[in-house]
Amino acid sequence: MTGESQAARRARLFDHDWDQIHADLAHRHAEAGNTSGVATLEAALAGYLATPGRPGVVNPVAGFLEAATEDVIAGMIDTGFDARRLSTAHLLLSSRNDVCAETRPFDDGSSLVVVSDSLLTLCAFYCRCAGLVLSGEDGLDAATIAGMLRYYHVQQRVHGLAGMLAFEVPGRAAELTSALVTQAARFVAGHELVHHALGHGSELSGFHPGEHLPVCSGDQLREYQADAGAHTALLRTCEKEAGDAQALALWGALAAVLAVYSSEKALFVRNGGTHPPALDRIRMLLAQVGESVRGRARMLLGPLLEATDAATVFAVRAELFDGDQVLASPFVSTPLTRGYLEQISLFDALMSHPHQKLVEGVERLDPATPRLAGGTRLAAAGRAAEAFESWGVDPEVGQRLLNPAIPLTFHSLRMAMKKAFTDLGVQKDSVLAASVVAATLLEPSLRTP
Ligand SMILES: [Zn+2]
Repeated sequence: MTGESQAARRARLFDHDWDQIHADLAHRHAEAGNTSGVATLEAALAGYLATPGRPGVVNPVAGFLEAATEDVIAGMIDTGFDARRLSTAHLLLSSRNDVCAETRPFDDGSSLVVVSDSLLTLCAFYCRCAGLVLSGEDGLDAATIAGMLRYYHVQQRVHGLAGMLAFEVPGRAAELTSALVTQAARFVAGHELVHHALGHGSELSGFHPGEHLPVCSGDQLREYQADAGAHTALLRTCEKEAGDAQALALWGALAAVLAVYSSEKALFVRNGGTHPPALDRIRMLLAQVGESVRGRARMLLGPLLEATDAATVFAVRAELFDGDQVLASPFVSTPLTRGYLEQISLFDALMSHPHQKLVEGVERLDPATPRLAGGTRLAAAGRAAEAFESWGVDPEVGQRLLNPAIPLTFHSLRMAMKKAFTDLGVQKDSVLAASVVAATLLEPSLRTP
């Protein structure tokens, strides 16, 4: 195929088999015991198949992101970015949860922009909260927001599933929400495209296959440039449409920044790149808008940040997920069984438990496999490499888990432990709990210092 850029070729090779992804998700829901999750997936799949999509785009979320990208590219060109340069970026929606969004530069000058669909799920959640408040509805308190976020994060950490509790908002708020979700997707794509347009990270050409070296690393100034460029382009795009352009552009950007902050804090043991502190990014965005928009944003941001901080701490002081409390909100309804919600609370408690108690629990869990408890004690003592050896973790896998340059999510750490414990012969019904405990104990020593 002549004329195909390296990024386009990589995108084609990575092109997802969405049927396979659905089958995998259904399997994980079933494994987690979430029967309504399986039903919801099947309904969503039927809906996808019935939706007239964009030509050549099978997944409607990918189609949505593609449209959002085209819009923000138009805004970028209007605000002075080079159209030719932008045409060499290739965008891909990914079902992988081990990256939020990243731009991979190639030697021929093209870039592959990868955006994870779970980041968009989280953006949509923050947009819904913003839509409710901006449309004048009250009744959504920080504790409910924190509870819903906590449900999402626990389910991601344990099962690798990106699911929100059904969160219905009334008419005007729903309209506003859908406009905001569009802005958030435009901002996410715009941020990455500014990295590409400005040639950020072009020196990072030597990444190895299967390793992620996100451009969002190191130089924080580049992150501010990417935020500022994306926000300006988004504002221009919004000005061409109906509605309060300043508020829409700002809230789209804020929702995206909050979603990245929330995932990085809750889901990653290490993230390859460090975004500047969310509060600094937010401050910079607020400085770009007028006083009235800024004042309203500050009022709404307070509870959202408070809830996000509460929902992303997994430690003894954490406020655990409480299904009854969240379901008491007039906006939340869910087909999930009480048993499933209780299971989420239990996993939450497990990941927030004092470490010594966790070790004692594992010692009782499977006395027939002494290497399980032995390794667990090493993990609790911060001796991760020895713990891996004791559990018989594949040395190559162990090296990757220990390598501070490779991003690592809590869920992939747990899955590696699950594999090791299964191979070790740990009783089948103890593997899930033991692997959650192992990942919890390992997390502090595997974090980037
Ligand atoms: Zn970035």
